[in-house]
This record gives sequence, structure tokens and C-alpha cells, in this order.
Amino acid sequence: MKLSDPVSSLKGVGPQIQQKLGVLRIETLQDLIFYFPRKYEDYSTIVTSDQLRPGQKATLKATLGQVKGRYVRRGMHITEAVATDVKGSIKLVWFNQPYRVAGIKTGQEYLISGDFALSRGRMNMVNPSLELNSNFPLHSARIISIYKETAGLKSAALRKLVDQVRPLIDRLPETLPEDMLEQNDLISFSRAVEIIHYPESMQQLETARRRFGFEELVGVMIASELNKRQFKTESGVTIPFNESLVKEFVANLPFPLTSAQRKVAWKIFMDMEAKEPMNRLVEGDVGSGKTLVAVMAAIVALDAGYQVAMMAPTEILARQHFVNVASLVKGKSTELLLGSMKAAEKKRAHQRIAAGESRFIIGTHALITDKVAMDNLGLVIIDEQHRFGVKQRKFLQSKAGKMPHVLSMTATPIPRTLALTIYGELDISIIDELPPGRSPIVTQIVSPNSRTEMYSVAHAQLAAGHQVFVVCPLIEESDTINVASVDKIYNELSKKVFKGHVVSLLHGKMPNDEKESIMARFIAKEIDVLVSTTVIEVGVDVPNATVMIIEGSERFGLAQLHQLRGRVGRGRSQGFCFLVMSDSKTPPKRLQAMEYTTDGFKLAELDLDIRGPGAIYGISQSGQLDLRFANIADHSLVSGARKVAVEFVATKQRLDSFPVLKKRVQRYRSITNLN
Ligand code: ADP
Ligand code: MG
Repeated sequence: MKLSDPVSSLKGVGPQIQQKLGVLRIETLQDLIFYFPRKYEDYSTIVTSDQLRPGQKATLKATLGQVKGRYVRRGMHITEAVATDVKGSIKLVWFNQPYRVAGIKTGQEYLISGDFALSRGRMNMVNPSLELNSNFPLHSARIISIYKETAGLKSAALRKLVDQVRPLIDRLPETLPEDMLEQNDLISFSRAVEIIHYPESMQQLETARRRFGFEELVGVMIASELNKRQFKTESGVTIPFNESLVKEFVANLPFPLTSAQRKVAWKIFMDMEAKEPMNRLVEGDVGSGKTLVAVMAAIVALDAGYQVAMMAPTEILARQHFVNVASLVKGKSTELLLGSMKAAEKKRAHQRIAAGESRFIIGTHALITDKVAMDNLGLVIIDEQHRFGVKQRKFLQSKAGKMPHVLSMTATPIPRTLALTIYGELDISIIDELPPGRSPIVTQIVSPNSRTEMYSVAHAQLAAGHQVFVVCPLIEESDTINVASVDKIYNELSKKVFKGHVVSLLHGKMPNDEKESIMARFIAKEIDVLVSTTVIEVGVDVPNATVMIIEGSERFGLAQLHQLRGRVGRGRSQGFCFLVMSDSKTPPKRLQAMEYTTDGFKLAELDLDIRGPGAIYGISQSGQLDLRFANIADHSLVSGARKVAVEFVATKQRLDSFPVLKKRVQRYRSITNLN
């Protein structure tokens, strides 16, 4: 028996079963071994018939008798048998499994596993699994594997097939270097595979998952380490740090820098002065002053004679940046470039950019999708960088000839373990401090039937000339009734609650220009109350908005709620955030966390713990990495993997000796380039 043998070499696999295995993409014995269970059922508790409880999962050891089968209604078949042990007997029932009748050996002792249920006052077991009592049961008296099934090929059959190839598992070669395993207290590959199919306990299963998770993480991290090294070998531009220029700029600001801003800016200046191109991500909560730090980097690059490009994910944001930036870099020629600009206007902008007359170019994707020729591009600033894909970034970088320095900014707090995993090839700086004098936003959970107080706060704010956001969860057609739909809420608010005010609706299905024009009208204070799905752009600044009402708030991730809350209280006035629940139940712990902390990182950590990386990051990127086993919230696992990966690359260990790891790394290298 060899791993490469076809499944047809197994006992009981004829053309029909082989075809069904093919549906599950199992063609060889190796495929079968790596067909891991989808989940487990714990039937390890053995009970006697008098101990049975409804709903309980357990195994009964009993002899079978009185087996009979019959057809009832059209084609429906029922098999019944009586299982008897020392304490009594219980009826077993199977539906549509007529083969059971001939299969049962009367008078023999069986292990019977399944769910016990009460029917007409008597305990029954419906469709239990059955196997003759033995020391090595496959389907009962243990934690059993449940595989993804296909028509005519159930888990029980798959368990039998896996059992035939079980002897091969022992011979599986190790996929990771031995010292990696030792350092991190991990079990061997073959042992982990064995446990995945045949766990003896949930704790033991955890050791196997941990081992596979580690392997995934090490793969991702070696990949990003290699990418990072490659990136650093590209020839970049050296931008000398003009200290007196920066000092003068800072002295002219109406406020002092926070010490976090100063530290991060310093890092960036050092990066830009180096020969290797910078690839740095600045993380900082909404309002922590990232834009200002980016502008400081820009003036240094501009001063050294380089062009600077700044990209934002939407036109509204690009316009806002343009206005802010223009006021900060007086004397430098700034240029706004948007996809929606008229052709002639755009052409003139392109000409000014190519001729080098425009030095600081601010725009959206138009910056990179249009045929824009740059003149000595030295620094690229990407706001809310996770909105950009690999192609767009590479393309922009290719415009410069030499690799420009890249500075990305995000307001999404990314927990350290997640950053190490998916941002491994970026250098990360955190602005962990808000400018002084900002009062935290008052946050309150609201039950759906007690909105009076919330609306009176909103009315008071409107009366004072402020504006209100109302956010509704995006819902599918098939969704349950409880979550109020955007339309319904809009009608209610515009016709009743906020009658007399200008209430507008914004939702994801609107065309882009319509969305942008509504946003622009809101910014211009032409709209008082904006009802929307979560399309409100990250980073959009409406300092006059002071109230954020979030409907169905328990449906949002904490990171997202935090982002939404950050939309208000950006001016000098006190901000309010109301988290309306869909029902009157006790609010979940995560929602309560919103009430007592405004620390985005703390909330993100909590979210990662409870809901996994997808919640924080949007499923796309972590999903593409296909981390099946890695628990990104597990600090010791993630930092252990990181340490090992960095060491592996630094000591130039050869991936060639570890073909499985090599393949994994190659796959990840193309994906992590995204970041
Ligand atoms: P972010 O992009 O991080 O959300 P911004 O750069 O837009 O934040 O800054 C938010 C506001 O705070 C801006 O109005 C900016 O002028 C102001 N600001 C930035 N740094 C400071 C500081 N050190 N002290 C006071 N206000 C600041
Ligand atoms: Mg910003």
C-alpha cells in the first residue's frame, strides 16, 4: 500500500464508490488521509439504559433482539429493534435503512451511539449507529469524525475507508524542521494527522490543531519575510531629512504634535533617508492625526525635489484631503485628480503632472488607472490602504521607475497577532494617542422599545444646528423580520420622528455619483439626518455631526462599530453614539464593551477573540490566506511562529529540504503581496 495508490485499491471501493470519492476530490490514498473531518461528535460517554437522558449524546452497550422491518406509507421503511442491557431495554428505530434488518446479529453485544429522544413517553434512539462491541470501535464509544459527505457516501463509510489507510499515516514524512517542533512544543506531523482522524479527547484534538495552525502561520510568515527582503532589494530613492524645514512647519501649526505623532514621523524620516524603499503602515485611531504625519513626510519629499502622490479610496475623501493638505503645504503646487473630472480638465491636470508643474497630487484610483505620467515620484501615501489591491499598488509603484517610498495609513486598529500574520511584510507604526482635549463619545445601548430618550438627544442636537447619522445593517432579502430595513426606518424617521428636518437616504445599491452627491450635501449641511447602510465612508470628516444611531447594532463587528462611532464627535462638540438592539434581550458582552471603552485596539482584540479575523478585516484577505487551523488570537502561537519564520529566513535555511512547506510558502507569497 502506497500513498499514491488509487482509492480503487481499497477493499469495498468499486467503480461506484470511486466515482463518489471523486466528487469529494479523493483519488489517491493520500487524498483520503488528508480528507480531514469537518467536525466531531463525542460519543465517548458509555451509559446503561437506565441512565439515558433526552438530547444526550452517548453510547449504549447492549444486545439486540426483536429485529423487524416494514414498509409504512408510500415507500417509507422502518426498522425496529430492541436493545437490552443489565438495566433494561430500549427501542431503536431506523428510517429508510432496510438493509439494517439483515445486518443485525441477534443476541450479540453492540455499541450503539446516537441521540436519545423521548417519544410517546418512551425513550427511543432514532437512526443510531451500530457496531459490534470491540476494543477498537470506529463509529461509537469514542469521539467520532464527521466528514463532508456526498450522496451515497456517508461519514460512516468514509471512516471505514480511512481506517484501511490508517497504517500509512505513521509513515508520513515530517513537514517542518525538527527544532521548530521542539522549540514550540509541537507534535509531529504524522501524529497530528492521526489525532485529527482519531482524537481520544478534545484536549488531544487541540494539540493537533495547534500543530497545523502553527504550520500555516509559519508558511505565511516565511512568505512575508521573503517578500519583505525582496522588496528591500529594489532600488529606491534617498530623501534627505531636512530637519529645519520640519521644525519650521511644526512651529507654524496651531497646536503641538502629540508625542506619538513625533515618534512615528521620526521613523518615517529615517525610512525615507535609507536606500531601501519604505513600506510602512501607520495605524492610528480616527482623529489621531495621521494625515498630519503624512503631510510632514510629504513636505520633506517635496523639498528634496520629488513628486508626492496621495490616494484615497473615494472622491469625497480625496477632496477633503486636498482641501486640508493645500492649506498645510502653502507654496507647493497641489493637484486634485478625480475620475469624475471632465476630460479636458483631466487632460490639463495630466499635462501639469507629467511636466512636473504639479508636485503634490491627490486623488482616487484615477491616479493610477488613468494614463498619468509622473515626474520623479518619490513618495506614495495611501489612505485606508486596505481598500487597495495588489495590482493598483504595483501599478502606481511602477510609474516611478525607481520604487518610491510607500506610506500607508489605516484607522482600523489591527491587533498585534493579526498584524504579524497578514501584514508581515510591512513595518508598522502605531499612533496610540489622541490629541489632548477630546472628550470621549457618550455611548449607550438602547432597547428597541425605548427610543424616546435617544430621539430627544437627537432633537436637541439638531436644534443646536448639528447633524445626525442613522446607520442600518445591510440585510439580505431572506433575512429575519426583526431587523428593521433601511427603507422602513427611513420612512419612519422622515415622516414622523424627524419631520420638518431634511432626512436623506443613502444605500449601497445607489450609483456612485449619487452616493457621493448625497455625502457632499451632508457635508455642506444641506441634510440634517442621514439614514444609511454602512456605506458611510471611513475617514469622512463631518465635524458638525454629533449623533450616531446604529440600528441592529448587535449585528456589527466591534471594529466596525468603533469606526462608525468615530464618525461623530470630530469637532469641538460632544458626540453621542446610540447602539440600538434588534430585540429587548440582554445586550451581548461585546456590545457592552462599546459602552466602557473607546480604545479601538482593545475592541479589536476582543473582536478577534470572539468573532475571528474576518470580523476585523473583512473576510477577503484573511480568507484568501485560507487559514483553516491557525487561531490568530493565540498570542504565543503567533509570536512563536513569527520568531521561527524570521530565524528560518535569516539563517538562510533552505526551503528545498521541506517541500511541503515550500509549496505553502510559494502560494502565500503571491497572496501576501496584497498587503
Ligand atoms: P486621522 O486621519 O488620524 O483620522 P486627522 O489627521 O484627520 O486624523 O486629524 C484629525 C484632526 O485633528 C484634524 O483636524 C487635525 O488638524 C487635528 N490634529 C492633528 N494633530 C493634532 C495635534 N497634535 N493636536 C491637536 N489637533 C491635531
Ligand atoms: Mg484620516
